[in-house]
Amino acid sequence: MAAIALTGLTKDYPGGVRALDGLELDVADGEFFALLGPSGCGKTTILRTIAGLEEATAGTVVIGGDDVTRLPPGRRDVAMVFQDYALFPHMTVTDNVAYPLRIRKVPTAERRGRAAETAGQLGLTKQLDRRPGQLSGGQQQRVALARAMACHPRVFLFDEPLSNLDARMRLEARTFLKRLQRELAVTTVFVTHDQAEALALADRIAVLSDGRVRQVGTPTEVFRRPANTFVASFIGSTPMNLLPGTVTAGARVLVGDAALPAPVGEIAPGTPVVYGIRPEYLRLTPTAGEDTVTGEITVVENLGSTQLLTLEGPAGTVQVVVPEDSEAAPGAPLHVVPRADRALLYRPDGDGELL
Ligand code: ATP
Repeated sequence: MAAIALTGLTKDYPGGVRALDGLELDVADGEFFALLGPSGCGKTTILRTIAGLEEATAGTVVIGGDDVTRLPPGRRDVAMVFQDYALFPHMTVTDNVAYPLRIRKVPTAERRGRAAETAGQLGLTKQLDRRPGQLSGGQQQRVALARAMACHPRVFLFDEPLSNLDARMRLEARTFLKRLQRELAVTTVFVTHDQAEALALADRIAVLSDGRVRQVGTPTEVFRRPANTFVASFIGSTPMNLLPGTVTAGARVLVGDAALPAPVGEIAPGTPVVYGIRPEYLRLTPTAGEDTVTGEITVVENLGSTQLLTLEGPAGTVQVVVPEDSEAAPGAPLHVVPRADRALLYRPDGDGELL
Protein backbone atom coordinates (compact mmCIF):
# COMPACT_ATOMS: atom_id res chain seq x y z
CA MET A 1 0.00 0.00 0.00
CA ALA A 2 1.42 3.40 -0.94
CA ALA A 3 -1.08 6.13 -0.16
CA ILE A 4 0.52 9.56 0.24
CA ALA A 5 -0.51 12.01 2.97
CA LEU A 6 0.85 15.56 3.05
CA THR A 7 -0.03 17.34 6.28
CA GLY A 8 0.58 21.00 7.09
CA LEU A 9 3.27 21.09 4.42
CA THR A 10 5.10 24.41 4.33
CA LYS A 11 8.12 25.26 2.20
CA ASP A 12 10.11 28.48 2.46
CA TYR A 13 12.91 29.11 -0.03
CA PRO A 14 15.80 31.40 0.81
CA GLY A 15 14.88 35.01 0.11
CA GLY A 16 11.54 34.84 1.89
CA VAL A 17 9.57 32.92 -0.78
CA ARG A 18 6.83 30.81 0.83
CA ALA A 19 6.12 28.30 -1.96
CA LEU A 20 3.76 26.12 0.11
CA ASP A 21 1.72 27.23 3.09
CA GLY A 22 0.27 24.51 5.31
CA LEU A 23 -0.76 22.31 2.39
CA GLU A 24 -3.02 19.28 3.06
CA LEU A 25 -3.31 16.59 0.38
CA ASP A 26 -4.18 12.88 0.35
CA VAL A 27 -3.44 10.61 -2.61
CA ALA A 28 -4.99 7.12 -2.49
CA ASP A 29 -3.06 3.91 -3.08
CA GLY A 30 -2.81 3.21 -6.81
CA GLU A 31 -4.31 6.56 -7.76
CA PHE A 32 -3.26 8.62 -10.80
CA PHE A 33 -3.25 12.09 -9.25
CA ALA A 34 -2.60 15.41 -11.05
CA LEU A 35 -1.24 18.62 -9.59
CA LEU A 36 -2.56 21.35 -11.86
CA GLY A 37 -2.01 25.09 -11.71
CA PRO A 38 -0.38 28.11 -13.31
CA SER A 39 3.36 28.68 -13.36
CA GLY A 40 4.84 29.32 -9.93
CA CYS A 41 1.93 27.92 -7.91
CA GLY A 42 4.16 25.33 -6.20
CA LYS A 43 3.52 22.12 -8.18
CA THR A 44 7.17 21.17 -8.64
CA THR A 45 7.92 22.04 -5.03
CA ILE A 46 5.25 19.56 -3.86
CA LEU A 47 6.68 16.83 -6.10
CA ARG A 48 10.27 17.48 -5.01
CA THR A 49 9.22 17.50 -1.35
CA ILE A 50 7.53 14.09 -1.77
CA ALA A 51 10.70 12.83 -3.48
CA GLY A 52 12.93 14.23 -0.71
CA LEU A 53 14.82 16.53 -3.11
CA GLU A 54 13.55 19.50 -1.06
CA GLU A 55 13.29 19.51 2.70
CA ALA A 56 9.95 20.63 4.15
CA THR A 57 10.14 23.74 6.35
CA ALA A 58 7.21 22.35 8.36
CA GLY A 59 4.68 19.53 8.07
CA THR A 60 4.96 15.84 7.24
CA VAL A 61 5.15 13.55 4.22
CA VAL A 62 3.77 10.04 4.86
CA ILE A 63 4.05 7.31 2.22
CA GLY A 64 2.36 3.96 2.79
CA GLY A 65 1.95 4.78 6.49
CA ASP A 66 5.67 5.59 6.97
CA ASP A 67 6.71 9.10 7.94
CA VAL A 68 9.44 9.82 5.37
CA THR A 69 9.72 13.58 6.06
CA ARG A 70 13.34 13.34 7.22
CA LEU A 71 14.45 10.41 5.02
CA PRO A 72 16.86 11.02 2.11
CA PRO A 73 15.47 10.49 -1.43
CA GLY A 74 17.15 7.08 -1.85
CA ARG A 75 15.26 5.63 1.11
CA ARG A 76 11.76 6.77 0.13
CA ASP A 77 11.13 4.14 -2.53
CA VAL A 78 9.86 6.68 -5.06
CA ALA A 79 10.95 7.22 -8.67
CA MET A 80 10.81 10.60 -10.33
CA VAL A 81 10.65 11.28 -14.07
CA PHE A 82 11.91 14.77 -14.87
CA GLN A 83 10.63 17.09 -17.57
CA ASP A 84 13.91 16.85 -19.52
CA TYR A 85 14.12 13.07 -18.76
CA ALA A 86 17.67 13.55 -17.30
CA LEU A 87 19.10 10.60 -19.28
CA PHE A 88 22.86 10.01 -19.38
CA PRO A 89 23.86 10.91 -22.97
CA HIS A 90 26.94 8.63 -23.05
CA MET A 91 25.08 5.50 -21.87
CA THR A 92 23.00 3.07 -23.91
CA VAL A 93 19.29 2.55 -23.26
CA THR A 94 20.07 -0.61 -21.29
CA ASP A 95 22.62 1.15 -19.11
CA ASN A 96 20.35 4.14 -18.54
CA VAL A 97 17.48 1.89 -17.45
CA ALA A 98 19.79 -0.27 -15.33
CA TYR A 99 21.44 2.71 -13.63
CA PRO A 100 19.29 2.82 -10.48
CA LEU A 101 19.77 -0.94 -10.09
CA ARG A 102 23.55 -0.42 -10.31
CA ILE A 103 23.31 2.17 -7.51
CA ARG A 104 21.45 -0.46 -5.48
CA LYS A 105 24.28 -2.92 -6.21
CA VAL A 106 22.11 -5.43 -8.09
CA PRO A 107 24.51 -7.93 -9.83
CA THR A 108 25.34 -7.13 -13.48
CA ALA A 109 23.56 -10.02 -15.18
CA GLU A 110 20.38 -9.53 -13.17
CA ARG A 111 20.26 -5.79 -13.72
CA ARG A 112 20.83 -6.12 -17.48
CA GLY A 113 18.05 -8.71 -17.62
CA ARG A 114 15.64 -6.54 -15.65
CA ALA A 115 16.52 -3.46 -17.72
CA ALA A 116 15.92 -5.31 -20.99
CA GLU A 117 12.63 -6.70 -19.72
CA THR A 118 11.35 -3.30 -18.57
CA ALA A 119 12.52 -1.57 -21.76
CA GLY A 120 10.74 -4.36 -23.69
CA GLN A 121 7.48 -3.65 -21.84
CA LEU A 122 7.73 -0.09 -23.13
CA GLY A 123 8.44 -1.12 -26.73
CA LEU A 124 12.17 -0.31 -26.70
CA THR A 125 13.60 -3.76 -27.50
CA LYS A 126 15.11 -2.62 -30.80
CA GLN A 127 16.72 0.44 -29.22
CA LEU A 128 18.54 -1.22 -26.29
CA ASP A 129 22.04 -0.44 -27.61
CA ARG A 130 21.33 3.10 -28.76
CA ARG A 131 22.27 6.28 -26.92
CA PRO A 132 19.65 8.97 -26.06
CA GLY A 133 20.86 11.22 -28.91
CA GLN A 134 19.83 8.48 -31.38
CA LEU A 135 16.22 8.33 -30.11
CA SER A 136 13.07 10.38 -30.78
CA GLY A 137 11.60 12.51 -28.01
CA GLY A 138 8.89 9.92 -27.37
CA GLN A 139 11.44 7.10 -27.15
CA GLN A 140 13.57 9.12 -24.73
CA GLN A 141 10.51 9.62 -22.59
CA ARG A 142 9.94 5.85 -22.54
CA VAL A 143 13.54 5.27 -21.48
CA ALA A 144 12.99 7.68 -18.58
CA LEU A 145 9.79 5.79 -17.68
CA ALA A 146 11.56 2.42 -17.94
CA ARG A 147 14.33 3.68 -15.65
CA ALA A 148 11.69 4.76 -13.12
CA MET A 149 9.90 1.40 -13.38
CA ALA A 150 12.99 -0.82 -13.16
CA CYS A 151 13.25 -0.56 -9.36
CA HIS A 152 9.55 -1.30 -8.79
CA PRO A 153 9.03 1.84 -6.66
CA ARG A 154 5.98 2.39 -4.45
CA VAL A 155 5.35 5.80 -6.01
CA PHE A 156 5.94 7.45 -9.40
CA LEU A 157 6.43 11.20 -9.55
CA PHE A 158 6.20 12.81 -13.01
CA ASP A 159 7.14 16.44 -13.62
CA GLU A 160 5.38 17.62 -16.81
CA PRO A 161 6.12 14.25 -18.49
CA LEU A 162 4.66 15.19 -21.88
CA SER A 163 5.73 18.80 -22.26
CA ASN A 164 8.76 18.09 -24.48
CA LEU A 165 6.78 16.18 -27.10
CA ASP A 166 5.13 17.62 -30.18
CA ALA A 167 1.32 17.74 -30.33
CA ARG A 168 0.79 14.34 -32.00
CA MET A 169 3.38 12.46 -29.95
CA ARG A 170 1.86 14.05 -26.88
CA LEU A 171 -1.54 12.48 -27.54
CA GLU A 172 0.02 9.08 -28.23
CA ALA A 173 2.20 9.28 -25.12
CA ARG A 174 -0.80 10.37 -23.04
CA THR A 175 -2.81 7.28 -23.98
CA PHE A 176 0.27 5.10 -23.44
CA LEU A 177 0.93 6.58 -20.00
CA LYS A 178 -2.67 6.11 -18.92
CA ARG A 179 -2.68 2.45 -19.99
CA LEU A 180 0.68 1.82 -18.33
CA GLN A 181 -0.41 3.37 -15.03
CA ARG A 182 -3.63 1.28 -15.07
CA GLU A 183 -1.64 -1.91 -15.64
CA LEU A 184 1.01 -1.20 -13.02
CA ALA A 185 -1.47 0.34 -10.52
CA VAL A 186 1.38 2.25 -8.86
CA THR A 187 0.43 5.44 -6.98
CA THR A 188 1.38 8.26 -9.35
CA VAL A 189 1.52 12.01 -8.82
CA PHE A 190 2.08 14.09 -11.93
CA VAL A 191 2.54 17.79 -12.40
CA THR A 192 1.07 19.66 -15.32
CA HIS A 193 -0.05 23.17 -16.20
CA ASP A 194 -2.16 21.75 -19.05
CA GLN A 195 -5.74 21.33 -17.89
CA ALA A 196 -6.67 19.09 -20.85
CA GLU A 197 -3.86 16.69 -19.90
CA ALA A 198 -4.98 16.62 -16.27
CA LEU A 199 -8.63 15.99 -17.24
CA ALA A 200 -7.64 13.22 -19.66
CA LEU A 201 -5.22 11.34 -17.43
CA ALA A 202 -6.05 11.79 -13.78
CA ASP A 203 -8.33 9.87 -11.43
CA ARG A 204 -8.35 13.04 -9.33
CA ILE A 205 -6.94 16.52 -9.74
CA ALA A 206 -5.75 19.09 -7.22
CA VAL A 207 -6.05 22.60 -8.67
CA LEU A 208 -3.53 24.95 -7.05
CA SER A 209 -2.77 28.65 -6.99
CA ASP A 210 -0.21 30.53 -4.88
CA GLY A 211 0.83 27.44 -2.91
CA ARG A 212 -2.78 26.67 -1.90
CA VAL A 213 -5.16 23.91 -2.93
CA ARG A 214 -8.20 25.52 -4.55
CA GLN A 215 -10.12 22.28 -5.26
CA VAL A 216 -9.57 18.51 -5.24
CA GLY A 217 -11.90 16.31 -7.26
CA THR A 218 -12.42 13.95 -10.16
CA PRO A 219 -12.12 15.46 -13.65
CA THR A 220 -15.93 15.48 -13.87
CA GLU A 221 -16.30 17.25 -10.51
CA VAL A 222 -13.83 20.03 -11.25
CA PHE A 223 -15.29 20.52 -14.74
CA ARG A 224 -18.99 20.41 -13.75
CA ARG A 225 -18.83 22.15 -10.38
CA PRO A 226 -15.71 24.27 -10.04
CA ALA A 227 -15.54 25.28 -6.35
CA ASN A 228 -14.58 28.89 -7.07
CA THR A 229 -14.10 31.33 -9.94
CA PHE A 230 -10.36 30.58 -10.12
CA VAL A 231 -11.00 26.89 -10.90
CA ALA A 232 -13.92 27.85 -13.19
CA SER A 233 -11.68 30.01 -15.34
CA PHE A 234 -8.74 27.56 -15.28
CA ILE A 235 -10.53 24.31 -16.21
CA GLY A 236 -12.12 23.73 -19.62
CA SER A 237 -10.77 24.19 -23.15
CA THR A 238 -12.45 27.60 -23.16
CA PRO A 239 -12.92 29.31 -19.80
CA MET A 240 -16.33 29.57 -18.19
CA ASN A 241 -18.22 32.85 -18.78
CA LEU A 242 -18.32 34.65 -15.41
CA LEU A 243 -20.86 37.46 -15.64
CA PRO A 244 -21.67 39.92 -12.82
CA GLY A 245 -25.40 39.91 -12.00
CA THR A 246 -28.06 40.36 -9.33
CA VAL A 247 -30.58 37.82 -8.04
CA THR A 248 -34.17 38.77 -8.87
CA ALA A 249 -37.52 37.29 -7.84
CA GLY A 250 -38.58 34.13 -9.68
CA ALA A 251 -35.24 32.26 -9.37
CA ARG A 252 -33.50 34.40 -11.96
CA VAL A 253 -30.35 36.42 -12.18
CA LEU A 254 -30.33 39.76 -13.96
CA VAL A 255 -27.23 39.95 -16.15
CA GLY A 256 -27.22 43.17 -18.21
CA ASP A 257 -30.76 43.24 -19.60
CA ALA A 258 -31.27 39.45 -19.49
CA ALA A 259 -33.13 37.63 -16.68
CA LEU A 260 -31.38 34.25 -16.76
CA PRO A 261 -32.62 31.04 -15.09
CA ALA A 262 -30.29 29.98 -12.28
CA PRO A 263 -29.99 27.71 -9.21
CA VAL A 264 -30.90 30.59 -6.89
CA GLY A 265 -32.07 28.41 -3.95
CA GLU A 266 -32.38 30.49 -0.77
CA ILE A 267 -30.36 33.47 -2.05
CA ALA A 268 -32.37 36.68 -1.40
CA PRO A 269 -33.42 38.94 -4.31
CA GLY A 270 -31.02 41.87 -4.65
CA THR A 271 -27.92 39.81 -3.78
CA PRO A 272 -25.01 40.44 -6.16
CA VAL A 273 -23.58 37.21 -7.68
CA VAL A 274 -21.38 36.03 -10.51
CA TYR A 275 -23.33 33.98 -13.07
CA GLY A 276 -21.16 31.14 -14.44
CA ILE A 277 -21.98 29.36 -17.67
CA ARG A 278 -19.61 27.44 -19.97
CA PRO A 279 -19.50 28.49 -23.64
CA GLU A 280 -20.65 24.94 -24.53
CA TYR A 281 -23.88 25.40 -22.55
CA LEU A 282 -25.19 28.41 -24.44
CA ARG A 283 -27.54 27.62 -27.33
CA LEU A 284 -28.31 29.81 -30.35
CA THR A 285 -31.89 31.02 -30.69
CA PRO A 286 -33.36 33.04 -33.57
CA THR A 287 -35.27 35.58 -31.49
CA ALA A 288 -34.59 37.71 -28.43
CA GLY A 289 -36.55 37.01 -25.25
CA GLU A 290 -36.22 37.97 -21.60
CA ASP A 291 -33.97 34.95 -20.92
CA THR A 292 -31.66 35.45 -23.91
CA VAL A 293 -28.25 37.05 -23.92
CA THR A 294 -28.00 39.34 -26.92
CA GLY A 295 -24.88 40.83 -28.40
CA GLU A 296 -22.88 41.56 -31.49
CA ILE A 297 -20.39 39.00 -32.74
CA THR A 298 -16.90 40.51 -32.51
CA VAL A 299 -14.68 37.45 -33.09
CA VAL A 300 -15.21 34.08 -34.82
CA GLU A 301 -12.57 31.41 -34.08
CA ASN A 302 -12.56 28.12 -35.93
CA LEU A 303 -11.92 25.16 -33.61
CA GLY A 304 -12.39 22.39 -36.21
CA SER A 305 -15.73 20.72 -35.52
CA THR A 306 -16.95 23.81 -33.63
CA GLN A 307 -16.56 27.58 -33.64
CA LEU A 308 -15.92 29.86 -30.69
CA LEU A 309 -17.85 33.13 -30.96
CA THR A 310 -17.19 36.20 -28.85
CA LEU A 311 -20.19 38.48 -28.26
CA GLU A 312 -20.28 41.99 -26.86
CA GLY A 313 -23.55 43.28 -25.43
CA PRO A 314 -25.34 44.51 -22.30
CA ALA A 315 -24.28 41.32 -20.44
CA GLY A 316 -20.61 42.10 -21.17
CA THR A 317 -18.25 39.86 -23.13
CA VAL A 318 -19.68 36.36 -23.59
CA GLN A 319 -18.17 33.37 -25.40
CA VAL A 320 -20.28 30.69 -27.09
CA VAL A 321 -19.33 27.38 -28.72
CA VAL A 322 -21.48 26.66 -31.79
CA PRO A 323 -21.43 24.02 -34.55
CA GLU A 324 -18.90 24.57 -37.36
CA ASP A 325 -21.70 25.37 -39.86
CA SER A 326 -23.28 28.21 -37.84
CA GLU A 327 -22.50 30.79 -40.58
CA ALA A 328 -21.76 33.34 -37.86
CA ALA A 329 -19.96 36.46 -39.06
CA PRO A 330 -18.38 39.36 -37.20
CA GLY A 331 -20.74 42.33 -36.85
CA ALA A 332 -23.94 40.23 -36.88
CA PRO A 333 -26.32 40.24 -33.90
CA LEU A 334 -26.73 36.98 -31.97
CA HIS A 335 -29.12 35.64 -29.31
CA VAL A 336 -28.19 32.76 -27.01
CA VAL A 337 -30.01 30.93 -24.20
CA PRO A 338 -28.18 29.31 -21.27
CA ARG A 339 -28.85 25.73 -20.18
CA ALA A 340 -30.36 26.43 -16.77
CA ASP A 341 -29.20 23.11 -15.26
CA ARG A 342 -25.58 23.98 -16.09
CA ALA A 343 -25.54 27.51 -14.66
CA LEU A 344 -23.55 28.07 -11.43
CA LEU A 345 -23.56 31.03 -9.06
CA TYR A 346 -20.44 32.34 -7.33
CA ARG A 347 -19.75 34.95 -4.68
CA PRO A 348 -18.54 38.18 -6.29
CA ASP A 349 -16.01 38.76 -3.47
CA GLY A 350 -13.60 36.80 -1.27
CA ASP A 351 -12.33 33.70 -3.04
CA GLY A 352 -15.30 33.68 -5.43
CA GLU A 353 -16.69 30.50 -3.85
CA LEU A 354 -19.56 28.53 -5.34
CA LEU A 355 -22.88 29.57 -3.75
P1 ATP B 1 6.25 25.94 -13.06
O1 ATP B 1 4.96 25.41 -13.64
O2 ATP B 1 6.67 27.25 -13.64
O3 ATP B 1 7.34 24.93 -12.99
P2 ATP B 1 5.50 25.43 -10.30
O4 ATP B 1 4.06 25.51 -10.05
O5 ATP B 1 6.12 24.09 -10.41
O6 ATP B 1 5.91 26.35 -11.52
P3 ATP B 1 7.48 25.89 -8.22
O7 ATP B 1 8.64 25.63 -9.12
O8 ATP B 1 7.14 24.86 -7.22
O9 ATP B 1 6.18 26.23 -9.08
O10 ATP B 1 7.74 27.28 -7.49
C1 ATP B 1 6.88 27.82 -6.50
C2 ATP B 1 7.42 29.16 -6.03
O11 ATP B 1 8.68 28.98 -5.38
C3 ATP B 1 7.69 30.15 -7.15
O12 ATP B 1 7.36 31.43 -6.66
C4 ATP B 1 9.17 30.02 -7.40
O13 ATP B 1 9.70 31.22 -7.91
C5 ATP B 1 9.70 29.71 -6.02
N1 ATP B 1 10.93 28.86 -6.07
C6 ATP B 1 11.04 27.63 -6.60
N2 ATP B 1 12.28 27.13 -6.44
C7 ATP B 1 12.99 28.07 -5.75
C8 ATP B 1 14.34 28.17 -5.25
N3 ATP B 1 15.20 27.15 -5.39
N4 ATP B 1 14.68 29.31 -4.61
C9 ATP B 1 13.82 30.33 -4.42
N5 ATP B 1 12.52 30.29 -4.86
C10 ATP B 1 12.12 29.20 -5.52
